[in-house]
Amino acid sequence: MDWKDTPEQAAFRSEVSTLIDTRLPTRYRELAARGAMPERAWENDRKSDMPDEVAAAVDWHAALAERHWVAPHWPTEYGGGGLTAMEQFIFNQEMAESGAPGVGGSGLSMLGPTLIVHGSDEQKEKYLPPILDGNVTWAQGYSEPGSGSDLASLTTRAVRDGDDFIINGQKIWTSAAHTADAMFALVRTDPDAPKHRGISFVMIDDIKTPGITVRPLININGDHYFNEVFFEDVRIPATNLVGELNRGWYVGMTLLDFERSNIGGAVAARRQLRSLIGHIKANQQGAAERITPELRREIVDRWVETETLYQFSFRIISMQSAGLVPNYEASTAKLFASELSQRLAHTATKVFGLHAQHWADAEPASRFTRNYIAMVPATIRGGTSEVQRNVIATRGLGLPRA
Ligand SMILES: Cc1cc2nc3c(=O)[nH]c(=O)nc-3n(C[C@H](O)[C@H](O)[C@H](O)COP(=O)(O)OP(=O)(O)OC[C@H]3O[C@@H](n4cnc5c(N)ncnc54)[C@H](O)[C@@H]3O)c2cc1C
Repeated sequence: MDWKDTPEQAAFRSEVSTLIDTRLPTRYRELAARGAMPERAWENDRKSDMPDEVAAAVDWHAALAERHWVAPHWPTEYGGGGLTAMEQFIFNQEMAESGAPGVGGSGLSMLGPTLIVHGSDEQKEKYLPPILDGNVTWAQGYSEPGSGSDLASLTTRAVRDGDDFIINGQKIWTSAAHTADAMFALVRTDPDAPKHRGISFVMIDDIKTPGITVRPLININGDHYFNEVFFEDVRIPATNLVGELNRGWYVGMTLLDFERSNIGGAVAARRQLRSLIGHIKANQQGAAERITPELRREIVDRWVETETLYQFSFRIISMQSAGLVPNYEASTAKLFASELSQRLAHTATKVFGLHAQHWADAEPASRFTRNYIAMVPATIRGGTSEVQRNVIATRGLGLPRA
């Protein structure tokens, strides 16, 4: 199935692509062309020592801000784009096609929507504008060493002391905590209540608050992407509680009505496969000579799967456009997309044979090799494959819980 835009959708698509064509900074254009855009490029550039990287982050943010597209999914009354799910889909598709980086990080995607639903008027007034302006970025402090899939078992404690909470404990896998200015977190405020009922959602305005230690975790790719964060008697004002005390589990699970099709993943998979086929056709690094009948079939399988992923995206956006909330359907798409990204990267390394050992940027194979490594966490973050399968089994197929 091919998606046909209505005239209004086509006009909106053209608006988005014109903005990208005319305003995407050269740095991002070049990185995208090489397929080398780092994750969280905007967040890293914003805090970079290199003036041209900072300038790229500032210029791209300003270009999006002019159209209110920094937060396409936020309502307009809070400075967002107020886009419908379908408009967000088109926006995300065009961004992915061009390889343009998003701006804003977890503050935009998670904290903002949470505050819009659960925050007090004072909290909205204080915290939303700096997220939109790109002046304050936030890290997400949910996971702990003993609590990932079973997040509700978290043990980081917050104890009320006068007008403050005092926090002790540890978070882990905290993406971009080393570049973030602030952090929102789930903490245990009632250890005697059933596990989902004794958790609160709090904001830590300054990640450099005394008592917080951020330690890097270097991933298999050699990148500093996530961190461990330790809390030792960290004091935050009690007014930084979002929503009700001990109801943080439900606050933390808030999703504003933003599109969940992962069209960006589908576009990225198609781009990669097309690029791989281009290398084979050009016989780069002897790629064509390595195509055995088995490998040929494998590439065709990847093609079919990549197109299937598009259909998953279309299914979800169709549901959202009809006012339905995707549930196990989103788990199905996440599971399929993440496992496909690993299969695709594996197929690419076979195409390049021994050249796939190259790491240097100049080698065509290296991009695929780096991707092979970079895709390892795809089946862990945002809910592991096993957890997605449990959701599909129970909510989708109605099977009893194991
Ligand atoms: C790149 C990356 C970025 C991340 N960024 C953040 C971040 O910014 N903030 C944050 O808070 N967290 C972040 N995380 C953490 C992420 O949310 C957790 O890794 C994830 O929820 C899994 O938890 P875990 O690592 O503790 O694994 P565990 O939950 O310990 O799971 C270990 C294994 O057991 C399996 N398993 C667990 N429970 C079940 C079950 N019920 N049935 C079947 N199998 C099961 C899992 O599938 C997995 O294979 C990030 C993770 C990654 C990889």
